[in-house]
Amino acid sequence: MPRLRCDECDREISPLTTRSNLRWIKDRAHLAREVLRHSNDGLDSWMMESLAFLDEHGEHGVSVLA
Ligand SMILES: [Zn+2]
Repeated sequence: MPRLRCDECDREISPLTTRSNLRWIKDRAHLAREVLRHSNDGLDSWMMESLAFLDEHGEHGVSVLA
């Protein structure tokens, strides 16, 4: 199962999506937040979950694991 991991905090999450989607959102979190800001319907739950994790750990060095 693909997951996002913070090595500094030793924490990880496994949003229900593909590894390439996790890569995408990790590299483009700022873009995903813009989409969220302009969306009335909200984002898919994997996006919400990933963005919350990146908000907390984005400065720590997050990796995408398979
Ligand atoms: Zn962290």
